[in-house]
Amino acid sequence: MKVCLLCKHIFSFDEWTCPSCGHQPKRLNGIEAHAPEFANGGGGFKSEYFSELSRLEAENFWFRARNELILWALKTYKPDARTFLEVGCGTGFVLSGLARACPEMALSGSEIFLAGLSHATKRVPSANFMQMDARRVPFVDEFDVIGAFDVLEHIEEDEVVLSQLNGALKVGGILLLTVPQHTWLWSASDEYACHVRRYGRVEIEKKVVAAGFEILRSSSFVAGLLPAMLLSRWLMGRNAKNFNPADELKINSVLNKSFYGLMMLELAGIKLGINYPVGGSRLIVAKKND
Ligand SMILES: [Zn+2]
Repeated sequence: MKVCLLCKHIFSFDEWTCPSCGHQPKRLNGIEAHAPEFANGGGGFKSEYFSELSRLEAENFWFRARNELILWALKTYKPDARTFLEVGCGTGFVLSGLARACPEMALSGSEIFLAGLSHATKRVPSANFMQMDARRVPFVDEFDVIGAFDVLEHIEEDEVVLSQLNGALKVGGILLLTVPQHTWLWSASDEYACHVRRYGRVEIEKKVVAAGFEILRSSSFVAGLLPAMLLSRWLMGRNAKNFNPADELKINSVLNKSFYGLMMLELAGIKLGINYPVGGSRLIVAKKND
């Protein structure tokens, strides 16, 4: 169901016009804009980052491996999912993978910046896209699964976002989260990406539970690459003024293949039930409480 962000009326029509107060979200570039005041700027990502990101992520081991992990989590913990919302869908790389693997699932994607959405709509024509602020989600009891992949760390009010996502899920619905982990890995790369924080395990699990979820799975990933991450961060730390974030994505093809292989090995371990204690990122699978 939809929630009017103006009068809080709950309704379930295909149309967005609120039957109670007549409020209608703006349309920007043909996209429903629920938070138009943030559409062309604000916090989070720099919009010029999207065009470069879109090109680099399709090749990069990290985005490809994270897609495999997400797809596995979805099929394992909610195999009967019919509806999926990705919050902070960026250029639509995750949704494009889901559209191929689960063509029967109704896909939606939201993003605070229009710049990301223009790439996403071209990449995944079958999905429904909207401009939205994750702190004010215009849905209640609507989705089987909601994913937020490396999004929460951009938002000061992460607890508000988690409780909004809880509200937008159906009872028994599943939340899939990935977040960057370990405060001691904080670097120029986090600053460039406008991260507010990196998470510790206890902090993120506590916040997810407080928002009304039961945690089904919590594991680190990118564990095997931790030494490489530390080395790269140490080198960058010595040279922070010249930091170019795209360099992290531009990677030698032999290394790219080896890193992908390493992450697939890690995923095999996760599939077997191993929860890694350390790693550059954390995956959380949580179920909305009854
Ligand atoms: Zn209304």
